[in-house]
Amino acid sequence: MKIAILSRDKTMYSTKRLVEVGIERGHEMHVIDVLKCYMNINSRASSIHFDGEPLIGFDAVIPRIGASVTFYGTAVLRQFETMGVYSINESVAISRSRDKLRALQLLARKNIGLPITGFANKPSDIPDLIDMVGGAPLVIKLLEGTQGIGVVLAETRTAAESVIEAFLGLHVNIMVQEYIKEAGGADIRCFVIGDKVIAAMKRQGKEGEFRSNLHRGGTASLTRITPEERSTAIRAAKTMGLKLAGVYLLRSMHGPVVMEVNSSPGLEGIEAASNKDIASAIIEFIEKNAAIKPIRTQSNG
Ligand code: ADP
Ligand code: MG
Repeated sequence: MKIAILSRDKTMYSTKRLVEVGIERGHEMHVIDVLKCYMNINSRASSIHFDGEPLIGFDAVIPRIGASVTFYGTAVLRQFETMGVYSINESVAISRSRDKLRALQLLARKNIGLPITGFANKPSDIPDLIDMVGGAPLVIKLLEGTQGIGVVLAETRTAAESVIEAFLGLHVNIMVQEYIKEAGGADIRCFVIGDKVIAAMKRQGKEGEFRSNLHRGGTASLTRITPEERSTAIRAAKTMGLKLAGVYLLRSMHGPVVMEVNSSPGLEGIEAASNKDIASAIIEFIEKNAAIKPIRTQSNG
């Protein structure tokens, strides 16, 4: 097969691994920077161009679209879909999961465990919003943050009020969330391919840090997940419409709660922690599914 990896950086671990195993399995692998693509949107013959040449003959796409290029990246991916190219994750599913609030609303509809989350616009509603999520301490987060940036733990009610007020004053969209203290600065990262969790790891934030992000100094280790955690991860990925996903869970007193569903989970941490060849599992999934005529995910939000 001729497979495109939509990635801005050939040297990234995940991209390199996918290229490597793709070639090993006899495929033609191309790494394409979405920002260098331009498109002809046309009812008869839509096309994508790169450096003056049309991109043709692709059988499958693996989108690895960074958060900073979500808009342009999903537009390029949509164009591949229009041209009938199979994508392991569809553009609509990526957009759904990138917007944390939209993602939580969709998960709530399916009765999947979530931290209690509030969303508001008017400063005068702040006191009630804080009460809704159970008061301080609470977590305030930007709707489109990544790597733990824009995730704030407000320890007291006064701190929460002033931080929320400041964000609203800057017209930044934030959500306010119940703080899952019992998670102890750790989260569970489940790597989902199709309808299976193929590996899971625990990430622990560094001493004194409630955010477990590796970028914030967190560490990863192998963990066993419970059947409930496994089914929550699978249902969360399915709800987003993602065939490839990193589902992040917190272990709360009322069971696993989903924090986010990542449409481009990195391979480095999970391959190291689990000692599994996850890149091959991804390519294998594409081999099995790209040939089947795509069934479009419903645009239900
Ligand atoms: P990002 O997308 O920036 O990584 P997350 O929503 O994943 O943002 O939050 C970053 C980290 O902060 C999580 O991995 C988790 O360790 C911690 N965290 C986030 N929300 C909560 C919460 N409600 N309760 C406890 N810890 C949380
Ligand atoms: Mg995160």
